[in-house]
Amino acid sequence: MLLTGAQVWTGAGPVIGAGTVTIDGGRIVAVTDGPPPPGTSASDVLELAGHTVVPGFQDAHCHPTHGGMRRLGCDLTGADGRRACIEAVSAYALANPDLDWIVGGGWRMPDFPGGTPHREDLDGVVPDRPVFLVNTDGHGAWVNTRALERGGVTDGTPDPVDGRIERDDRGAATGTLHEGAMELVRRRIPPTGADRVADALLAGQRHLHALGITAWSDAWVVPDELAAYQAMADRGALTARVTAALWWDRGRGLEQIDDLVAQRNATHGDRLVASTVKIMQDGVVENGTAAMLEPYLDLAGRPTTDTGLRYVDRRLLCEAVTRLDALDFQVHVHAIGDAAVRDALDAFAAARRAGGSGTRHTIAHLQIIQPDDLPRFAELGVIANAQPYWAQLEPQMTDLTLPVLGPARADLQYPWASLLAHGATLAFGSDWPVSTADPLWGIEVAVNRTDPAHRSQTPFLPEQRISLDDALRAATRNSAKVQGLDHLTGAVAPGTVADLAVLDGPLFGLEARAPADLHVALTMVDGRIVHRSPP
Ligand SMILES: [Zn+2]
Repeated sequence: MLLTGAQVWTGAGPVIGAGTVTIDGGRIVAVTDGPPPPGTSASDVLELAGHTVVPGFQDAHCHPTHGGMRRLGCDLTGADGRRACIEAVSAYALANPDLDWIVGGGWRMPDFPGGTPHREDLDGVVPDRPVFLVNTDGHGAWVNTRALERGGVTDGTPDPVDGRIERDDRGAATGTLHEGAMELVRRRIPPTGADRVADALLAGQRHLHALGITAWSDAWVVPDELAAYQAMADRGALTARVTAALWWDRGRGLEQIDDLVAQRNATHGDRLVASTVKIMQDGVVENGTAAMLEPYLDLAGRPTTDTGLRYVDRRLLCEAVTRLDALDFQVHVHAIGDAAVRDALDAFAAARRAGGSGTRHTIAHLQIIQPDDLPRFAELGVIANAQPYWAQLEPQMTDLTLPVLGPARADLQYPWASLLAHGATLAFGSDWPVSTADPLWGIEVAVNRTDPAHRSQTPFLPEQRISLDDALRAATRNSAKVQGLDHLTGAVAPGTVADLAVLDGPLFGLEARAPADLHVALTMVDGRIVHRSPP
């Protein structure tokens, strides 16, 4: 197969203006500047003048099962404002009269006063059945009165250690459950059937392929989901390359490692590995659950004594990471606050001191990094796993984040250029369905630090902008490093497998279009087309 006439960002040399990529047996065998030599024969020639060929995007941190499930359930993604959310829930409930529970998500905190929606809004449209709706970042749920009853949540219910029940002045639950408090209700929801999980995964895979994504790290996989991935791989339906990050149960200790080893050993196939463990060390800034070295301010900018939450005790974290590292597990830590980032780096340093297996570990999110910690990523070989789309002045940032951090810490956010300057390997992931899975939107934000939907907005910490080349590398080759696929993928070069995305316009040169204005025309894995947009 020949792809001809397109710009080629090879990831391994200068951009080719109008090149030819030759694919044979699922591998790239040649990449040349100019048209194919006369007399070249190929079973299939794709004329791609005006297009751009890039290595398939790899998402270093996303949740395709959750994303797929959201698409199949009560989906509030794109519902603009409180009224629109209530209407969408009402419409979904009317359309699904047989469901015992209304389950879904995708609402956004800035659409509700204080970021906390109220149960009465749901009671007004669904009085008779429990409703459970996770917010778009997955760190809180909006529930109705029926759901609180099912969860046994009364005025006297204490907050769990890893979460908080939002209450009114009289102490009554108002309908928002933060972090671990979500479990009070979530554990009452009937388990999702295997068929539904499989459908969600397929929907997730379709969505990601349509965005040019050929491989991903699923950053939160529980046994049911791993079984769904395995079944999909066994019947040849898994067309992406997937690293499943097994969920570290923070209610348990080191004894769970045997179970994780068993899950890894039971996983097989050439597209699926379960060699990563995901540890969540803190929450998010917006609800005060990110672990901070210094206390938060309140929304009016006054000091508090609250430094957020640490989900795993620091000693245990060091022990767990050291043991997992010795067993050749990659550890993928969720760390948002500067204290959580430091905890994770300390744990990787402990593993290194204990001998160190050389496994590449990764820390995701990295919202606030103290300058002293920046060089430690390169020193420890820890990959910075960034969600570039978040580095913009959207309402959640301006209304809920900047006030509680204060100016000095606010300036330490999402320091992608500083990490690169300190020699870190920077990889990109979307955290979909927390935010858009479209890597071209993430890349544009990394380059401009503005929302592609509002390009005239003030750039967020513009000194942290990075080049288009660095952003593309983060979304391809460096994400491949997170997944241990960089020997095989992440470049358009002879010898790599033909995992490619074709964009519908030029990304370079005089006619270049902004990344987020481009769409994916075609996605290929192992030389096989897994997505093709209608012309
Ligand atoms: Zn995530």
